[in-house]
Parts: sequence; C-alpha cells; structure tokens
Amino acid sequence: MTNSTIPTTSQSREACNECGKSVAFGSGWYVNRVPDGNPFDERVEMGKPFPHGEFICAECEEGFNQLSEQHS
Ligand SMILES: [Zn+2]
Repeated sequence: MTNSTIPTTSQSREACNECGKSVAFGSGWYVNRVPDGNPFDERVEMGKPFPHGEFICAECEEGFNQLSEQHS
C-alpha cells in the first residue's frame, strides 16, 4: 500500500465547491465540512466555481445560512 493514488492537485474532490479550498483530512476543514448531494453535472449547471469539489466548507455553509435568514 502506498499513497500514490491520492490526488495531490487542487482538483481533489475533497474540496469546497464554493471557495475551492481543501476539506480533506488534516486541512483543518475536515470536521465541519458538509457533503454536497448534487452530482458533478448539476454543480456545473448551478454555476459552482469549483464543481469538482464534493463538499461545502463550514465557512461557506455559514454564509448560506445568514443569507436565508436575511430573506425570511
Ligand atoms: Zn468554502
């Protein structure tokens, strides 16, 4: 077993699809990351800036919550 198959580029799927930062284990954002249930194609259609990311970080998630509170 080696670590050679783990992607080391910014295209890792363990990233926030809103801000693009890594949410992989050890990044500091691993614990509070939220999985994005949408498939890749859907995220592209939604205009996500980093559609390869399968998660939303705690920081962006918090931003969404604040937005919805303002509009309700
Ligand atoms: Zn983010």
